[in-house]
Amino acid sequence: MNISDRKFETMSELGIDKLTKYRGHRRLKVFYYKGLTCSMEGCTKVGTRLIKGTSKLGSVHVDIYTDDFELMNVDHYIPRSFGGSDHLDNLVPMCSTCNHMKGNKFIGVDMNHHFVSPTHPNI
Ligand SMILES: [Zn+2]
Repeated sequence: MNISDRKFETMSELGIDKLTKYRGHRRLKVFYYKGLTCSMEGCTKVGTRLIKGTSKLGSVHVDIYTDDFELMNVDHYIPRSFGGSDHLDNLVPMCSTCNHMKGNKFIGVDMNHHFVSPTHPNI
């Protein structure tokens, strides 16, 4: 991802050390307490940038990005559709790529008995 693909009108880098300011933030607290590394097994993406963006409509978002401006997401370890909560215990940092790949599955748990994997369209 390139900075020119950004969805915001203006972006400014706050500095990752400012994350402490957001330890009470609904989403950003996950990075504060769980770390900045993607939680997907085998992935080494790390959030290194704390960026404040203002959309064209004026709404302000503070988000964590990797060095190459990939957005770091917050993932539900147990998906909400399986009864997973929004509590910090159930939330983990995850890069956008892994988050899209993981979809609605459990990490590291074979859930094939419970859902049809999109990688096995013939099931
Ligand atoms: Zn990842």
